[in-house]
Amino acid sequence: MSSSNHKTSARAISTEQIHHAYRAPEGWDAIPVGVHKASTVLFKNTADLHTPRARDGLCYRYGLHGTPTSYTLAARIASLEGGTHCLLVPSGLAAVTLVSMALLRPGDEVLVPDNVYGQNRYLTESWLPQFGITHKLYDPMDAAGFKALLSDKTKLVWLEAAGSITLEFPDLQGLIAACQARGILTALDNTWGAGIAFQPFDLGIDISMQALTKYPSGGADVLMGSVCTRERPQLHERLNHAHEHLGYGLGQNDVELVLRGLPSLELRYRAQDATTRVLATWMAGRPEVARVLHPALPGSPGHEHWAELSPEGAACLFSAVFKPEYGAAQVDAFVDALQLFGIGYSWAGPMSLAVPYDMRRSRKLPMPFEAGTLVRFAIGLEAEADLRADLEQAFVSAFPSPR
Ligand SMILES: *Cc1c(COP(=O)(O)O)cnc(C)c1O
Repeated sequence: MSSSNHKTSARAISTEQIHHAYRAPEGWDAIPVGVHKASTVLFKNTADLHTPRARDGLCYRYGLHGTPTSYTLAARIASLEGGTHCLLVPSGLAAVTLVSMALLRPGDEVLVPDNVYGQNRYLTESWLPQFGITHKLYDPMDAAGFKALLSDKTKLVWLEAAGSITLEFPDLQGLIAACQARGILTALDNTWGAGIAFQPFDLGIDISMQALTKYPSGGADVLMGSVCTRERPQLHERLNHAHEHLGYGLGQNDVELVLRGLPSLELRYRAQDATTRVLATWMAGRPEVARVLHPALPGSPGHEHWAELSPEGAACLFSAVFKPEYGAAQVDAFVDALQLFGIGYSWAGPMSLAVPYDMRRSRKLPMPFEAGTLVRFAIGLEAEADLRADLEQAFVSAFPSPR
């Protein structure tokens, strides 16, 4: 650059850097969406400032409500879920909290399945009571018992398919129909189905939320959540109202990462699903294992409901219940012996994970199988043969055969 134009005005450097006249030319086009960041959104003039804009979460007044980048992601997640409206929040748990806080009032009751995502249970049991909101736990596999729990106080029912950790697949249609008959709102935690396994709104669900942290991100590097509705503008408005007041903002670099994950979402889902089915079936044949929980395996609780609803999709999770003669310490030794499986929470990222759980501590209602010590596996994108070899060597190391 020649020295003659290195200074374009008589203003100070800082002023010049902030009010610089250069604007990029129109017409840029590329596959990724631009990363737009803002707290301040500029108005054209005071008349523009004074003109009310619809507070529908789709206008630019302040960066907290969204930028072109996050509105693009919201629109894509709405399509993925088969919905028409989508709100984005900073984590899957924030999505759960948004739904319950937006829709429940003092005196209301919420129902959650006994195998609900653990933090939803914690919110329901330990936080909502402060607001005068009561709850009941239901057995997701007991449709008759479920109906008997519904009352005039019941305002919201949480559903999960498959359930967390134990992966029972409930009769979603039956549970939803029972709620519809009484005008009770239903919210599905659709993180497992991810919009790939089945279309939640076709089942009559009112709200579908996802931890975008899992499949849509796919990188084990982002926390984010979504709350979708379909053609229910008033319901969306109730959720949006709470969304605005609770101050849920997003980092647009995180939004960019999720946008980057979406084109490969279905390929990843199907690849991880295929590896998981093979490994789960292999695991069920191991002498150390009492049973494998995975909705695609015959005999797993709710297998028939899964087979009817979503035989093409089964996600990347299975749990192995070890035989009762093996204590928690031996199962821990097995997990420690794994080389390729990381020990850690979350799932649907590139690396396979294994976490031991003692179900007797987290569940209150009777379970449809022996409790035992259980290991929840989340299968990543590694090759199936390498994962199987790793599991095999860990069995040899932690369960030496008798001499
Ligand atoms: C991980 C998860 C969440 C919470 O997501 P975070 O982004 O970790 O807060 C909610 N529901 C289910 C089923 C999950 O697996």
